[in-house]
Amino acid sequence: MTARHKAIEAISTHKVASTQNYLEHAGEAIYGQYVFHEGVQREYLPKPIYRRLRRVIDGLEPFAPEIADAVAHGVKEWAMAQGASHYTHWFVPMTGSTAEKHDSFLAPDGDGSTIAEFSGRNLLQGEPDASSFPSGGIRATFEARGYTAWDVTSPIFLQVEPNGVTLTIPTAYVSFTGEALDHKIPLLRSQQALGKQALRILRWFGNTTASRVFTTIGPEQEYFLVDRRLADQRPDLLLTGRTLFGAQPPKGQELEDQYFGAIRARILAFMMDLDRELWRLGIPSKTRHNEVAPGQFEMAPVFESTSVGSDHNMMVMATMRRLAPAHDLAFLIHEKPFAGINGSGKHNNWSMSTDLGENLLDPGADPHANAQFLAFLIAIIRAIDVHAAVLRASIADAGQDHRLGANEAPPAIMSVFLGSQLEDVVRQLEQGAASASKQGGHVGLGVTSLPTLAKDATDRNRTSPFAFTGNKFEFRAVGSSAPIYWPQTVLNAAVADSLSVLADELEQLQPGDFDGLTSILSGIVRQHRRVLFEGNGYSEEWHAEAARRGLPNNRTTVDALPALATAEARAVFTKFGVLSERELEARVDIFWEKYVKVQNIEASCALDIAKTMILPACVAYLGQLAAAGSSRGVRTVADKVGSLADGLVDAIHALEHAQHEAHEAETVQGEARAFVDDVIPAQNALRVVADELETLVADDLWPLPKYRELLFQY
Ligand code: ADP
Ligand code: MG
Repeated sequence: MTARHKAIEAISTHKVASTQNYLEHAGEAIYGQYVFHEGVQREYLPKPIYRRLRRVIDGLEPFAPEIADAVAHGVKEWAMAQGASHYTHWFVPMTGSTAEKHDSFLAPDGDGSTIAEFSGRNLLQGEPDASSFPSGGIRATFEARGYTAWDVTSPIFLQVEPNGVTLTIPTAYVSFTGEALDHKIPLLRSQQALGKQALRILRWFGNTTASRVFTTIGPEQEYFLVDRRLADQRPDLLLTGRTLFGAQPPKGQELEDQYFGAIRARILAFMMDLDRELWRLGIPSKTRHNEVAPGQFEMAPVFESTSVGSDHNMMVMATMRRLAPAHDLAFLIHEKPFAGINGSGKHNNWSMSTDLGENLLDPGADPHANAQFLAFLIAIIRAIDVHAAVLRASIADAGQDHRLGANEAPPAIMSVFLGSQLEDVVRQLEQGAASASKQGGHVGLGVTSLPTLAKDATDRNRTSPFAFTGNKFEFRAVGSSAPIYWPQTVLNAAVADSLSVLADELEQLQPGDFDGLTSILSGIVRQHRRVLFEGNGYSEEWHAEAARRGLPNNRTTVDALPALATAEARAVFTKFGVLSERELEARVDIFWEKYVKVQNIEASCALDIAKTMILPACVAYLGQLAAAGSSRGVRTVADKVGSLADGLVDAIHALEHAQHEAHEAETVQGEARAFVDDVIPAQNALRVVADELETLVADDLWPLPKYRELLFQY
């Protein structure tokens, strides 16, 4: 029996893990158990320290180093009471994965014994060696110094494992020379920039009470689960996160019976573990369901401030990865683990909120608020049009190239979907001053009320990359594995830019001059209405129409990344100090490098599998056929397999050659282009031959678990 068949047998007798007593602790009782949350802060910190800390966390006063020692003491007491022995500064370097280095609390006290120590300085600042993280040339290997700095806006938490508890401090990561080396710092800067510009708009509308505006994020997360015993037999899943080979199974997702289907016991066990672990971490996991493709699932949390929500999304992905093996499952977060069925994305629900809890994208019922809502809405429309190419670049990577623009994910063309009622309002605004609502009233903008926009009044459009959904936008084109910091940074910077342009104009008007406001907004709509699209984003017609409208359509990463090297991109990032020119350049270098490295790993992995697994299976089968005599049927099969095996050998050589040639390119951009033009097509050609062989070679000789097994056997 082959390893594949042994795995299938094991699955058939698999007992669903019961890893927790679900009745014992309700969600409420465990929520935030691993977090140094407000309640714990109050308990462990002296009152004045607690109050100062809260004001810093709420953005009401700048960071206060003088409270660090007292906070560190409270944090340590709390963490040790929960069994923590170590602490770590947790950050997100430009690898896109989280990073942590642990230190124990142990400090020798000089007389042969030790005490537990955790000072204010330990809390505030860490010094991880920066030389082995990507820096895009900002740090050379001999210049190793980098610093992590406590990010007070993101809650301190515990990583609780069966064998130890680690106090974990979310941090920002900078080089010795002060450049951001992580995903967090630009995001925080972009939030600050957007908040400042949004406040200018609010002030013009007479809002004097809000003191801060921040963005909110609710990322819906798609992912796959497959049986681990099968996945372990696929080097491609292990090394690249996706299947590089695999014939289409007779059944895929065409029956649409997986979407929102009943959740299998084994998956539910995983999801229950996940929810409870996330709740303990203070992550408000809310929704879970089966997604469209077989073996595909989704979770969504309740939205939070963007910096916290972005950290939490990293923790969600990490927790999924960590928990899956206990259920003998493998967790696949790649954008396209399987050809021929849907891939995975992230839908970033995004809005802006004041510190008093007003959602700035809630159309509301109050006419005055509606004018304000329209001002924000139209500034966003402008932002998506003006910065379309940069936004597109913010979601570009090797994995996304399999998904964007295929008939399952939004196209690579950035457009805005508003829904019929809002679209109608914006269209009227375009005509000039006064506008009639759909109900037929004739009222000016200042006193108009939008058609009653109950949240469910807007349509849905799953084909739009950027869709308004009642009281928020949904950035639907983000990749499933992406750290969401970067796309949210770019979106914030783009919107900050639009808001500042609008605020500059508004501040020339008298407060309350709604006619003036109307004509400014009409002007913006007329100039940027080309980015509005209500139809089917998957259709050919839209691609043609978008081209007519002059909207950028950068299909691949290699087409998309150059937008980050333009003067416009530099301007939008430097205008508000989100990224310096050097920081931006470094980032872009890292994206190019990463793209090439990922493609190169995939090509090498495909070659390895083709040469050492698929070809030997063909040879073995040809041997069996040769031994089976020379009946016409046997000869026909042998001829077919024989000629495909020849084709396989040729395709292997062609891919090796293309890969070798690509490495000769002088620049990383040139190499990336060579991968797109030559290596990827050669790898695809190899796959075509291998996948056909899979449909011919005897099942018991085929070394790779098949799609039907991965997708349906769990
Ligand atoms: P759907 O998109 O299916 O209607 P929901 O309305 O529940 O689903 O929202 C999906 C996601 O959007 C959830 O994560 C939710 O918390 C988030 N969300 C809702 N309101 C906001 C908001 N103001 N800002 C950011 N995200 C939001
Ligand atoms: Mg959804």
